[in-house]
Amino acid sequence: MERFLSGQQAAFAAERYPTLQVRRDRLDRIAKLIEKHGQAFCEAISRDFGQRSPHETSLLELAPIMAALRHTRSHLRRWMRPERRGSSLEFLQMKNRVEYQPLGVVGILVPWNYPLMLTFGPLIDVLAAGNRAMIKPSELLPETADLLEQSIAEFFKADEVAVVNGGVDVAEAFSSLPFDHLVFTGSTAVGRKVMAAAARNLTPLTLELGGKSPVVFTPDYPIETAARDIAFGKLMNAGQTCIAPDYVLAPRDRLRDIAEAILSQAKSFYPVGSGQADYTSLVGARNFTRMVDAVEECRVSGCTVLSHESVLAGNGHRVAPTIVLDPPVGCLLMQEEIFGPVLPLVPYDDIDAAIAFINERPRPLALYIFSKQSSLTRKLLAQTHSGNVTINGTLLHIAQNDLPFGGIGPSGIGAYHGKDGFRRFSHARGIAEVRLFNPSRLAMPPYGKLAAWLQRFMMRN
Ligand code: NAD
Repeated sequence: MERFLSGQQAAFAAERYPTLQVRRDRLDRIAKLIEKHGQAFCEAISRDFGQRSPHETSLLELAPIMAALRHTRSHLRRWMRPERRGSSLEFLQMKNRVEYQPLGVVGILVPWNYPLMLTFGPLIDVLAAGNRAMIKPSELLPETADLLEQSIAEFFKADEVAVVNGGVDVAEAFSSLPFDHLVFTGSTAVGRKVMAAAARNLTPLTLELGGKSPVVFTPDYPIETAARDIAFGKLMNAGQTCIAPDYVLAPRDRLRDIAEAILSQAKSFYPVGSGQADYTSLVGARNFTRMVDAVEECRVSGCTVLSHESVLAGNGHRVAPTIVLDPPVGCLLMQEEIFGPVLPLVPYDDIDAAIAFINERPRPLALYIFSKQSSLTRKLLAQTHSGNVTINGTLLHIAQNDLPFGGIGPSGIGAYHGKDGFRRFSHARGIAEVRLFNPSRLAMPPYGKLAAWLQRFMMRN
């Protein structure tokens, strides 16, 4: 790791401001890598997961990577331009600008749930901003991690982009390296450790963490339409999505109807007999047991539990799409990020109670609002906090290349994607240039009438 880092640092020192052509060439090589190895990645990921449909990998990982590449390529020239900034009256003659300077070597720590999106997503922004990158994939997907290492070595020199594989010990050592910036995507618990390790070097961080992302269903919205979108957002990747709807807040008298509508959607997504092929397995026996136990805890405490069991036959550690009505707030499902295909429905009596429920909990990564009443939507937006929001849909905000993507507080620090990613991985260097007249001449001793006048002028209100 140290060798890769010092090689990249030396290469960066020799090319501190890569041209647009150099950066575009690096982005093009990502596109070629995806075109050449996309199919192999689909297969490797499916084997590592136990089962994941190649359509899911293509639609949720490969296609968004290509979309981000197209967006970045077409806007990069404009993003790289220095930006004129104003100068206040007393400094009238000064010419101010911001130049976006590459940071150097950026470390990228990747989780297992979207191993391509969360490798290449940050990498695109990091390379567009003119940096070099070292990547540590998750040890939970060994075949995918090996393919990442080989394919990146095929398209990039090690002093441009390098992959380091290994276990948690390697990840720990990786997070202690003196990078110029470190991007960590993963759980809030590990995020704390990574931040502590980075603090020793004062390495600036982007933390993309998890959390419990609520859906607020309001009574004016059609149940069937919302149910389809909620089931989609929840069941993609079997719920192992950082921005998956974690729980649904719904009017008490609609709870049962919504539960049945979501279950019926799950059944139509994964029909009996043929649905297994499209349904994803949980990764690892530990996640499986945790999910099964969490549902059992609710069942034992008397909650109504609805599930679509016919997807259970097939490869991997499968948990059926499951809906739990009105679980106790102290149960595991309501305490931890669920990260599986189980969806609690929580009743509310009025919208203020739903808002209070959200605000009593740590700030989530995403918020979903289903409402046709703009005043209600505005109220929910104004009175809650979350990383991002999709209104009348789920997951869609992550695919918008011109929106910043990131969490807030315990769900993350710093946002990236598109222009916001370019800026995140650049140093915004403010440059003030003295031209005809240097205003500091007015403030130089010995102090007399001019200094007194300047003081009065600058203290004006
Ligand atoms: P994780 O936190 O267990 O692991 C993430 C990465 O950290 C892995 O590469 C692992 O090797 C590494 N790691 C483990 N222990 C470490 C340590 N002590 N020091 C440094 N690195 C260490 O997360 P996961 O289980 O792979 O992913 C699931 C979590 O990621 C969920 O909480 C999910 O919400 C979150 N997530 C967030 C986003 C986002 O964009 N905000 C996206 C995907 C996943």
